[in-house]
Amino acid sequence: MKRALVTGASRGIGAACARALAREGYFVGVNYVASREKAEQLAKELGGVALKADVSETSQVRGMFEQFGDADVLVCNAGVAMNGLITDGEDTQWRRVLDVNLTGAIACCRAAIPHMVRHQWGRIILVSSVWGVCGAACEAVYSASKAGLVGLCRALAKELGPSGVTVNCVAPGVIDTEMNGCYTSEDLAALCDETPLGRTGRPEEVGELVAFLASDKAAFITGQVIGVDGGFGL
Ligand code: NAP
Repeated sequence: MKRALVTGASRGIGAACARALAREGYFVGVNYVASREKAEQLAKELGGVALKADVSETSQVRGMFEQFGDADVLVCNAGVAMNGLITDGEDTQWRRVLDVNLTGAIACCRAAIPHMVRHQWGRIILVSSVWGVCGAACEAVYSASKAGLVGLCRALAKELGPSGVTVNCVAPGVIDTEMNGCYTSEDLAALCDETPLGRTGRPEEVGELVAFLASDKAAFITGQVIGVDGGFGL
């Protein structure tokens, strides 16, 4: 049975990815940092395992992989948002965004890749964002962290292609999750207006793409950034 580890899988997009991969027959690792109950409940439902680790801490990432074992598929989804002008807030806040969203993904890739290379098969899927491609005012550091994932994806695709490992980014638009709880209903209506398909997306719609990218059907796709955004990023 192939094994998939999804970071930030306690809720939202990560939980939808874990569900989609479990449906495809994967044994799934459900990573979380705070939402223990939700992660354990989901892991039980999927016949997988809940894994507590703050992805921004490399020692915790190493411990998580020791607990889970080898991953054939790695979905780097854990992320935090930050709204405001770049000059707002404390240094600790913007550093946290980079540490979780970008450094965390790098740490997970470093832990997962040796097994994939040994087996000459692997799938790495990085959850970027439409903001990582287009940039968003008042989300500069978040956008930078997500753009960093695009660079990581393209470089790793070249580095790991000869070893049979594909690396792709998914770039969601506005998806209905707790992360967007900061938006007012007026903000959300405005975002829908800007989206050609006229609505927000569902976490499952991202999960389906992730499951496809993990499958053998996607064997010739690597180094790509694929939007799930209702056309928002056009
Ligand atoms: P969410 O509902 O806020 O869920 C975030 C997930 O990340 C939770 O499972 C959370 O775990 C986990 N997490 C946060 N910090 C972590 C850390 N340090 N270590 C491990 N796990 C951590 O967010 P979401 O909307 O599903 O977002 C998932 C990903 O999609 C993020 O990378 C986000 O940037 C990206 N994205 C979202 C949207 C959107 O519109 N929602 C659009 C584009 C991209 P706990 O529950 O344990 O805290």
